Amino acid sequence: MPTFASRSGTQRHGYSHDRIRQWRTDRRNAGLPWSYEGFLQEPGFCMHCRAAGTFIAGICWSDVRGASKYMEIESPGVPMGIAELLEREGPRASDWENTYLACAACAGTGRAIP
Ligand SMILES: [Zn+2]
Repeated sequence: MPTFASRSGTQRHGYSHDRIRQWRTDRRNAGLPWSYEGFLQEPGFCMHCRAAGTFIAGICWSDVRGASKYMEIESPGVPMGIAELLEREGPRASDWENTYLACAACAGTGRAIP
């Protein structure tokens, strides 16, 4: 069942963008590997969802007449992705909101399961 909880992967675990940038800069300056993937692996984040614990499952919005619309992303019969849908419907839509599903690889925790 999709939910409406929006979360930034590493931020939900207390890692700000500045903290990640500093980690990468320190590693690069030390001549060590400094990839974002390396950062995710060090504290044991899930590589499948990149620490988010969720994936965008669909989009809800209201059209110009106020009718509620819902479209699942990347499901059979859906011909477009989020960017295309936003381009087509976004300018006339209101109440635009993503829905999410838990990552199956980490059971929604964002942490790699050993
Ligand atoms: Zn995951």
